[in-house]
Amino acid sequence: MDTLPIEQLKQKLLAEQQRIEQELGHIAKRNPQNPKDWEAVAPDMNVQQADPSERADAIEEFENISGAEAELELRLNEVVAALERIARGTYGMCEKGGERIPLERLEANPAATTCIAHSA
Ligand SMILES: [Zn+2]
Repeated sequence: MDTLPIEQLKQKLLAEQQRIEQELGHIAKRNPQNPKDWEAVAPDMNVQQADPSERADAIEEFENISGAEAELELRLNEVVAALERIARGTYGMCEKGGERIPLERLEANPAATTCIAHSA
């Protein structure tokens, strides 16, 4: 049984974690009560002086930011969970079936939690 190149996959995960946190840093800030939670930052605007169309634009922009923020946060959680599995020594096991996840799958997505058969 060949062993997984854990160190290499870990580096990939750490690089992705850093990239996501950097991206999140542009559109969100960490919840001071819970460092794992990020909150989208509202567009800078003086609501009192803005006219209704400006306000609508700002709301739309905030919705876009919130959507992007939620996606990044989701991915970040997956990446962090994968790093925790490495630390616990359970990395690379299918969450549903317990079998090993093929290396090709982990190379494509080092945060994968299941084998392909169980991914649906
Ligand atoms: Zn499986």
